[in-house]
Amino acid sequence: MKSFLSHLECTNCSETFSCDEIHTTCPACKKVLYARYDLASAKRQFSKEDLAIRPPDMWRWFELMPVRNAGNVVTLGEGHTPLLHASVLGRQHGTSKLFIKEEGLNPTGSFKARGLSAAVSKAKELGVTSIAIPSAGNAAAALSAYGARAGISAHVYMPADTPDMMKTEVVAYGAELTLVDGLINDAGRELREVADANGWFDISTLKEPYRAEGKKTMGFELAEQFDWTLPDAIIYPTGGGTGIVGMWKAFDELEAIGWIGSKRPKMISVQSEGCAPIVKAFNEGASSAPLWENAQTIAPGLRVPVAIADYLILQAIRESNGTAVAVSDTETLSALRTIARSEGIFAAPEGAATYAAYIKLLESDFLNREEKVVLFNTGSGLKTPALFQ
Ligand SMILES: *Cc1c(COP(=O)(O)O)cnc(C)c1O
Ligand SMILES: [Zn+2]
Repeated sequence: MKSFLSHLECTNCSETFSCDEIHTTCPACKKVLYARYDLASAKRQFSKEDLAIRPPDMWRWFELMPVRNAGNVVTLGEGHTPLLHASVLGRQHGTSKLFIKEEGLNPTGSFKARGLSAAVSKAKELGVTSIAIPSAGNAAAALSAYGARAGISAHVYMPADTPDMMKTEVVAYGAELTLVDGLINDAGRELREVADANGWFDISTLKEPYRAEGKKTMGFELAEQFDWTLPDAIIYPTGGGTGIVGMWKAFDELEAIGWIGSKRPKMISVQSEGCAPIVKAFNEGASSAPLWENAQTIAPGLRVPVAIADYLILQAIRESNGTAVAVSDTETLSALRTIARSEGIFAAPEGAATYAAYIKLLESDFLNREEKVVLFNTGSGLKTPALFQ
């Protein structure tokens, strides 16, 4: 197996950089850097037959992953999650075309495992020995687990009121936990004050280029699971936006290697009414999303008041003719119960929010019953039992 990783490219000013040295954001304009691949060579040398015989995790996409030496891959078997037909739920809405991508089965119980497996692997390859992260909860758990497995020390900053299970995970994996009075952006600020002095590599969402590379494998898997076509719409709970921009990037890469055509799903971003910066910016026709004041929601992964990749998220939504929807915590809790009772899936509140949004989008006729729609359940409901007390 050979990775066709070629360089890093700024998503804003197009400046290019080496991917064999440590980079965070673009040194010139401070925007997000993307990993780029020699896709023309990948097209000739990577085949669906290669893919078919590999072990069932996200690293079977090695040619399009950012690690050069397979010996540096730090894996717990992340990815390759089921795409479940939600037939009972669909029937309640008169459709047979509703699906759930079940990311709650990932190591550490959320799709953050994909991003952190990729980022920790690349950091290991580049010689990093300690990593720090500000997190709303699940990213901290995932970094702590992959850090433990890689022998890289992990330092976590998260809001003091993060769900207990996520704090427990961090401690269990032996990471250093610092609780912060505030939200993820406040945690990020406190971390930055000490990271350099301590020699920690800051692995904040999209402030390093490789977490998105892990998340993009969700897009690869959807294409494969739908037999090299894409659904009509993807409904995705959006915090920092790594998943939505990662999948959007994945589709272009798959098209460039000739595995899918030019059709794209409508990319639909779901946020919570108590923290909906992307929804607000989308509705206002803006190309960036200012910080949302007094953010509040039961879904920790959606409690992200500001996202560095705001412009990329909004671009993906608009280029795909998608939309952005806010749902209330009450709608999310009701959706959570319905999914569990109808499909036997105990979703994370973020995942449940996608079903609440689906109901709204059918009612408003933005989506119709003939459209093939994928809801992303990004995590396991087992992490947030307090929602049921
Ligand atoms: C982090 C998280 C999200 C938001 O993901 P982004 O890719 O950062 O937008 C959604 N759901 C869960 C369960 C999360 O942990
Ligand atoms: Zn730049």
